[in-house]
Amino acid sequence: MRRKIMGMNYLRLAEVFAQPKKNKTVSVRGWVRTFRANRFIALNDGSTQQNLQCVVDFENTEQALLKKINSGAAVQITGKLVESMGSGQSVEVLVEQLNVVGEADPELYPIQPKKHSFEFLREKAHLRVRTATFSAVMRIRSVLSFAIHQFFQEKGFCYVHTPIITGSDAEGAGEMFRVSTLDAKNPPLDDEGAVDYKQDFFGKETHLTVSGQLEGETYAQGLGNIYTFGPTFRAENSNTSRHLAEFWMIEPEMAFYELEDNMNLAEAFIKYILEYILGKCEKDLEFLDQRLANEEKTKPQNERSPMGLIEKIKFVVENDFKRVSYTEAIDVLRNCKPNKKKRFEYLIDEWGADLQSEHERYLVEKHFNAPVILYDYPAKIKAFYMRLNEDEKTVRAMDILFPGIGEIVGGSQREERLEVLEKKIETLGIDPEELWWYLDLRRFGSTPHSGFGLGFERLVLFATGMNNIRDVIPFPRTPQNASF
Ligand code: ATP
Ligand code: MN
Repeated sequence: MRRKIMGMNYLRLAEVFAQPKKNKTVSVRGWVRTFRANRFIALNDGSTQQNLQCVVDFENTEQALLKKINSGAAVQITGKLVESMGSGQSVEVLVEQLNVVGEADPELYPIQPKKHSFEFLREKAHLRVRTATFSAVMRIRSVLSFAIHQFFQEKGFCYVHTPIITGSDAEGAGEMFRVSTLDAKNPPLDDEGAVDYKQDFFGKETHLTVSGQLEGETYAQGLGNIYTFGPTFRAENSNTSRHLAEFWMIEPEMAFYELEDNMNLAEAFIKYILEYILGKCEKDLEFLDQRLANEEKTKPQNERSPMGLIEKIKFVVENDFKRVSYTEAIDVLRNCKPNKKKRFEYLIDEWGADLQSEHERYLVEKHFNAPVILYDYPAKIKAFYMRLNEDEKTVRAMDILFPGIGEIVGGSQREERLEVLEKKIETLGIDPEELWWYLDLRRFGSTPHSGFGLGFERLVLFATGMNNIRDVIPFPRTPQNASF
């Protein structure tokens, strides 16, 4: 892939390293990561983790030009590609021509060649992708997205774009962002003094979607197997390292699938995409593996993770996920040490308790030592659309729990029986009018069917070994923060 600009063929660094044209003249361009000893430029153009060392002949280069070669500057370089004497690189460029395209004032450019904290870099989110860590994370994010489409497309699933603005709030009551064009200072009021949304843009209250599932189900009941992959919005005020207000979710939905088919698909899906990056993102993963190893060294011995990043990914790819019912999990948790010694923040004493992240992580990291698929949850703690089991107490839900993360997938077999669903909606006080179209699916050609939602950023967290979800999306949206 070559671009001809101003009479020159520029190579991307990934191409330079893939097939080094030794002793040939090459032209490259990118940004200066560092400039050492007035001689060595570490150049990066974003196409690969590796920097290209470009050696400047400083004796024959004007002082004024040397002064412009600073971290962050954009440069074009032409020179001979030769075998490198230095360690850590196979080839380097002996600079013959150097053009500073865009300067970066070293007094002002915030990304200096030293270790910056991730907190600091979040405030410079527009520049952080020029660091080794963030560019690696974002390349992996891109390859993962592609692998997701490839997995489903190979299996004949249809990619469906469900709406982002939704008029149904059955699922996310209280957790939704309102979409409105009404004058916030002076909204029209109805006879009872409440805001009159009939006069709003859509003639009713509308919100940003919290999930494409309900609409996804309608398409599965015609196309068979579908998936969505789009933005999702939740106004939950959870300021954790696992929650964003805007995140991306993959939601497949399959007609005629029962819970076990659903689990099989979810497990095969996760393994496929992780295996895909092991093959395609080797350099980036090695870099992040090393980064994580260095970080682990700063922790006390007993808090260190026993596995490195690549090792963890391989472990997930190569081993069966443990399938455990909620009831079995509660038994484990009730009798475990941190529960008995009251070290959990939320103690587990009864069947029916909702699981918190600390419990999920105990099961995965301490007890089973593997990803866990928990299924058959109490109906009371799960959504209205999940299929009721014969015991009438549990529903065919399944969550996948991952080490270091907790819940990464939430899914279920859906309730396909009209009467059972209607009864459920009634007991929960949901207005059936709101869901008339969803209930229609159970009136006309209803099938047992299933689906799940995988939070894309939680997957990227796992795949990159990063700790905070704010660092795996370009511009994170969280409570009190929508900068950039
Ligand atoms: P949690 O209990 O962690 O808040 P949830 O039960 O609300 O998750 P679901 O409604 O089942 O999650 O959503 C499906 C998936 O979407 C989750 O398994 C998770 O991977 C992801 N997810 C949910 N909420 C968020 C969020 N605020 N930010 C990022 N990802 C999320
Ligand atoms: Mn949640």
